[in-house]
Amino acid sequence: MFEVIGKSLKTGVVTTSYPLTPAEVSRHTRGKPEIDWANWKDARPAARVCPTGAIEFTDEERKRIATLDLGKCIFCGLCADADPAIHMSNQCELATRERAGLKLSAKYQLTSDGMHERLLENPAAGSAGGQSLEAVGQQLQARIRSMLGRSLHIRQVDAGSCNGCEVEIVALNSPIYDIERFGIHFVASPRHADMLLVTGPVTLNMELALRKTYEAMPAPRLVVAVGACGCSGGIFGLNYATVGGVDSVVPVDVYIPGCPPNPHALLHGILLAVNRWRGT
Ligand code: SF4
Repeated sequence: MFEVIGKSLKTGVVTTSYPLTPAEVSRHTRGKPEIDWANWKDARPAARVCPTGAIEFTDEERKRIATLDLGKCIFCGLCADADPAIHMSNQCELATRERAGLKLSAKYQLTSDGMHERLLENPAAGSAGGQSLEAVGQQLQARIRSMLGRSLHIRQVDAGSCNGCEVEIVALNSPIYDIERFGIHFVASPRHADMLLVTGPVTLNMELALRKTYEAMPAPRLVVAVGACGCSGGIFGLNYATVGGVDSVVPVDVYIPGCPPNPHALLHGILLAVNRWRGT
């Protein structure tokens, strides 16, 4: 026992002080694709290679609306390989309270051969239902503060994931991230949970189970969709075996994009939901 204590003292504290200090993410980590919108010459090559349809465009009368949907992006980097105006950043804190907030759209004037002549409208995160994202966020913050106080119990449901997201979620309980320092605990029963953390595209086989788990939770309750699959269906989209993202089955309060989102991204999303994100 003394040997173990001695070793612990020698190792010291390994727990990250995130979010008080910035995320310690390797520069090799793949995060959000950054598009140089002003100098983007053509959305078509990137849209062609994107495996999940995260880059899309619609053309109308020599004008084009090009959209990057972070809720579908799996950070594969194929768009960056195909287009010099795109590079992969290591930015991982991308969670939002609205699905529309993950979509970045820009409008272009087109040349006769379909290239971008000039940028007409800068990309802006979308807003839902005519309400600004800020207003939606403030309402949600007030609601969460009043209903949860300072502790949170999470029930995790795998609705059909590849288990990539689960590997990252398990890391939250490691000494490095130590999610329990926030008073946040994972629980085995939805009856004890305030938050439902859902991974994977919702498969047909799990649709009823997810709905029942949600209904078994005491109200008020929060739902967080994890990963590109949870946000939108991801690489699977809609097919014979899935019904799409989590919000096609239960209402979602926070979306955490990524494939998979790393523990920093997960912490960011969970803390965003419980209103502890750097005082927001
Ligand atoms: S990183 Fe991959 S999934 Fe994301 S926009 Fe680029 S090509 Fe699409």
